[in-house]
Amino acid sequence: MRRRDAIRSLSILPVAGVAAGTVLPLGTLFATPAAPPAPKRNLFKELGIRTFINAAGTYTFMSGCLMHDEVVDAIRSTAHEFAMIDEVQDKVGEKIAAMCHAEAATVTAGCWSALVLGTAGILTGMDQKKVAQLPNLDGLKSEVLVQKTHNSGYVHAVTNTGVKIIEVETAADVEKAINQNTAMMWFLNYAGPEGKIPDTEWVALGKKHNIPTMIDMAADATPVENMWKFNDMGFDLVCVSGGKGIRGPQSAGILMGKKNLIAAARLNSPPRGGNIGRGMKVNKEEILGMYVALEKFINLDHAKQWKIWEERIAMIENAAKKVNGVTTIVTVPAVANRTPTLNISWDIAKVKVTKEDFMDRLRKGNPSVEVMGGKDNSINITSWNLQPGQEKMVASRVKEELGKAAV
Ligand SMILES: *Cc1c(COP(=O)(O)O)cnc(C)c1O
Repeated sequence: MRRRDAIRSLSILPVAGVAAGTVLPLGTLFATPAAPPAPKRNLFKELGIRTFINAAGTYTFMSGCLMHDEVVDAIRSTAHEFAMIDEVQDKVGEKIAAMCHAEAATVTAGCWSALVLGTAGILTGMDQKKVAQLPNLDGLKSEVLVQKTHNSGYVHAVTNTGVKIIEVETAADVEKAINQNTAMMWFLNYAGPEGKIPDTEWVALGKKHNIPTMIDMAADATPVENMWKFNDMGFDLVCVSGGKGIRGPQSAGILMGKKNLIAAARLNSPPRGGNIGRGMKVNKEEILGMYVALEKFINLDHAKQWKIWEERIAMIENAAKKVNGVTTIVTVPAVANRTPTLNISWDIAKVKVTKEDFMDRLRKGNPSVEVMGGKDNSINITSWNLQPGQEKMVASRVKEELGKAAV
């Protein structure tokens, strides 16, 4: 509206306003009318980045998970004002701790950071000098006990602090290995069934010798009871990813447990510097987003959610097995990534395509679909990252490509 038009409408508007029973603030009459909203940028298109239907799972390299709208709203609505990071962490930590039966909690830059910072806190306590000296462990405890079957790549998070891993297999090994240098006992939840010492016994051994225990349950948010199970069990520190099953920010995670240990971990964390954690920054939006994601996750109707996951998987399974030579099976992993998981395998004499080529065809199709490779000629599909309706597209693309390769 040009100014002349604005003035002309001034003589009309108040009357109309009164007639409509409303009074317009004078300012609005002179305000430049808002320009029509600019079309939303599509950065994926602009930069030529491929997007895809994620029928694979919550994999970091595939950007993990999609945040619920409430989480995105939390991020947007907190982006326009400043707040002190420690105050945000204090308030959010209290809420998370209460939801998960922990004494205290803090939001970290993913589960990996939770592992680093939690270990650092155990090593340093509240001693600033020790915080400053990590990863140099002169005069500090330096050994972490890990069951042989738990000694995976994820221990690198723990050894970032400078500690050495001591492998054990049996309770007797633990008793033998413990000495004045033992700082912590680390448990990898998904490896639980493979080890000789179960979680409860691990905790009991730690308590007996007054050694803090930590559990990595990064991808094990389901079933939801896991969110408090390990705090109730007595682990001193519990570490979980925010951007996997919980559907929080991909770059966030939670460290929770004993109050003194969380306080010590925070001394090793941003916003403080001069410590090993300074690079593991989480912004206020992510911290608040993590809180909202956890709240939403805990309050979900998990039975209903599970049924939806199963129905989607059934639709894809039924389509795939119509192709001659294809076999399907649905399983639920024992610990990590507990969600219905479909394995589709084929007899290479009847369906002439390698797993790699098949995955490539799905990837290059329209829409692009990502699945995971399985053993031999097979792929694995989960449905928890599918948006409503995408199961139909996955079913049809999988059937189409299998059918094309069938002889
Ligand atoms: C994913 C994962 C991590 C790392 O978690 P981030 O949230 O990606 O930092 C650590 N441990 C295990 C077992 C995991 O699966």
